[in-house]
Amino acid sequence: MSKNPLLRTAVVLLTMLWWPNASRAADQPKPNAYALSAFKIPRKITPYTLPENWPIHFDRPVTNLAPSNAKSKVVVIGTGNPVPNPYRNGPALAVVVNEYPYFVDAGEGIWRGISHAILWQGEDLQDSFLPNKLKYLFITHLHEDHTVGIPSFIFNPYKFHSTTDKAIFGPPGIKDMVGHIVAAWRKDVDEMMTSHKWSAAGSRATATDVSDEGVIFKDANIKVEAFRTLHGAFACNLAYRFSTPDRIFAFGGDGIYSEGLVAAARGADILFMEAVTEEGIASAPWGGNTVEEKKKTILSYHLPPKDLVRVKEESGVKSIVLIHEQYYSKPEDYRREALLDEIKRAGMKGPIHSAIDGDIY
Ligand SMILES: [Zn+2]
Ligand SMILES: [Zn+2]
Repeated sequence: MSKNPLLRTAVVLLTMLWWPNASRAADQPKPNAYALSAFKIPRKITPYTLPENWPIHFDRPVTNLAPSNAKSKVVVIGTGNPVPNPYRNGPALAVVVNEYPYFVDAGEGIWRGISHAILWQGEDLQDSFLPNKLKYLFITHLHEDHTVGIPSFIFNPYKFHSTTDKAIFGPPGIKDMVGHIVAAWRKDVDEMMTSHKWSAAGSRATATDVSDEGVIFKDANIKVEAFRTLHGAFACNLAYRFSTPDRIFAFGGDGIYSEGLVAAARGADILFMEAVTEEGIASAPWGGNTVEEKKKTILSYHLPPKDLVRVKEESGVKSIVLIHEQYYSKPEDYRREALLDEIKRAGMKGPIHSAIDGDIY
């Protein structure tokens, strides 16, 4: 191009006038069929585009089903599982009593999941999640999808000036895991302390290995009891029962039918529980090559509809909220409420809800 700046400007302007559509077309992103219709079946199925990642209850807003006069409620922070569903954070819940939170599990996205719940439910909810109040966390088991948010639970509030050290409970191994996490982010904390003259308070965490059943925590708001359950090859896997001044909540974690699960849920107001499809198990992307292999593997980890019905009947729990749903199907057969329907067909009586992130119960 010409070295004369005036001539160069003229050439550029003329070029823009001559090919205005060409230059605009290059600037415009091409619309993506999947973005326009989230239910359009992707041409190629990988872990990122599995039917389980598709929007479930995309067509309803978050709900608040807690009684209006309730002193305690459960805020659903994340309902997901290991598949990277962009509409669901990893498993995490918070029991809120007198505007103070007690967390159960810390899946991927726990920190922004709190924000998501507050923005949808109304900003009054944020008084219950001020960064300094984030302290207590109860982990059901040590699978990564339930624990990968622990670094976030510890360090994100610290970045927002929380000086509250965390107290974390879980099956044997949690103490080791939390110790490693705190050590792993040491350089970050050192940098904050050097640069901003912050204290270490808020960046630390103590963890307690829980292997015995019974009361593991008590304060003015709640009593927490632990129960041993069965999930894969873990030697210890826990369900929790939270007794508050006005309600009882049970959290089953992941797992198959067990006496501990029934005991945790006995007479409770709500059981928060996972479930896995049995009818659609042939489409599961894991567990073996044949349907028989898949059934053997998957049903040693997760609760099929008929066993959820059994837990409901034997425990007398008043209602069930599904989280961590695992529904498998061929892409063309995908239906959003299929697992809920399968559970009802298996004989479930009484209230059962399929939670989405941000719900309150
Ligand atoms: Zn899980
Ligand atoms: Zn698990």
